[in-house]
Amino acid sequence: MCGVFGAYSPSDFVAEEVYLGLSALQHRGQESAGVAWIDNNRRVNTIKGMGLVHEALSQSVLAETPVRSAIGHVRYSTAGGSMLQNAQPICANYAQGPVAIAHNGNLTNFDELRGILENRGAIFQSTSDTEAILQLLAHQPKRSPFEALLRALAEVRGAYCLVVLLEEGLVAARDPWGFRPLSLGKRGDNYYVASESCAFSLLGASLVRDIAPGEVVLINGNGVTSYSLPIKSPKKWLCSFEYVYFARPDSVIEGRSVYGTRQEMGRKLAMSWGASGADFVASFPDSGTTAALGYAQASGMPFKAAVVRNRYVGRTFIQPTQKVRELGVRIKLNPCPELFRDRSAVLVDDSIVRGTTAGLVVSMVRECKARSLHLRISSPPIKYPCFYGIDTPSSGDLAAAKCDEDDMARTVGADSLHYLSKEGMIEAIGLPPDSLCTACFDGEYLEGAKSFNHPPGCCGGIFD
Ligand code: SF4
Repeated sequence: MCGVFGAYSPSDFVAEEVYLGLSALQHRGQESAGVAWIDNNRRVNTIKGMGLVHEALSQSVLAETPVRSAIGHVRYSTAGGSMLQNAQPICANYAQGPVAIAHNGNLTNFDELRGILENRGAIFQSTSDTEAILQLLAHQPKRSPFEALLRALAEVRGAYCLVVLLEEGLVAARDPWGFRPLSLGKRGDNYYVASESCAFSLLGASLVRDIAPGEVVLINGNGVTSYSLPIKSPKKWLCSFEYVYFARPDSVIEGRSVYGTRQEMGRKLAMSWGASGADFVASFPDSGTTAALGYAQASGMPFKAAVVRNRYVGRTFIQPTQKVRELGVRIKLNPCPELFRDRSAVLVDDSIVRGTTAGLVVSMVRECKARSLHLRISSPPIKYPCFYGIDTPSSGDLAAAKCDEDDMARTVGADSLHYLSKEGMIEAIGLPPDSLCTACFDGEYLEGAKSFNHPPGCCGGIFD
């Protein structure tokens, strides 16, 4: 999972706004950050670094960079390792001009494309799948960069939301299935594109609309022009886990408030799995808090912020020494003993992946001498890996792939454990069931496959 941001203004300098937009998308990637722009000499420039936005980039340098269009990226690696070489945007100055690309998603036919391109002489500078798009574009030197980009996108398969900077303007593109969200925002004559709408409010901009699946938008002095990708999909396939966990609660995706859908997931969970005679509801902060509030509302129990998160802990501040590894989740989350002592509590979290955090938090609450502890999970069990840009473990490491609810309750040490049903999650999201990807919950991958089959003669049409 990554975050992308782009800005275009006819009159203002926007590089610092890209920095600020990326800060609002920090939850989508913490490994590296980068910003790119095209200078007056028709060259693409970039600043990239490892770590959080404020560590990787200099706000003061960007504030003094006089450019009216720029793009940026925060990275969480899913394809290609975590190294500066793979930080984005990926840039090149090729025969037809400068180009910079920032990508959120995973290309499922990257290996195939890389093989074809290398046979044609391409030299890849990174192990990131995004570079295949850049190489496909550069291998069409007779076409304008925008036309070459459209043709390149007809060759890639999988999940992508892109912001691309060309001399023709700022481009935003979303794959035909619409796996990941991508939004268009506006303030005055300035346009913004972001992985999530939460990045607009910070800049005083408003959400205009989602970029549609299969849509390519070109933003320049002529305003916003919409194009369609040459390949179509039979349906939309938006990641349901964006609503469960990834997206920030103050974002709106496909017209649905993430906060509202998460609260509704908690309400539905409470309606299915009751109060268990508990004294209060608490959450695994922050990811479980919105659902816990919905659970408390529907069950009539009070919500208590009984598990506290240390907001200032991250890998930047604390080195992974043996001591830290032993402390594990205690470094980040801690229960308030006086709230749990002799009480019965419902603890709500958004999901269980490996089960490690749930087990450690439950054991810490047990140490507080809680009378009983009931775990409620505001999504269905995650049993299958994701092939569409999310770094989930293989099935063997997914706790729910091996345990039913009772086994899982025993494993993590809870008195009871229940999940929200898939139907409950979909109802809470409120979008048509056949427009949502739920593959990590039900194993129903797009077209029944774990990847998209590429038609024979791949890339044949663009290398003429
Ligand atoms: S498999 Fe799960 S995480 Fe991956 S896109 Fe589908 S719903 Fe999202």
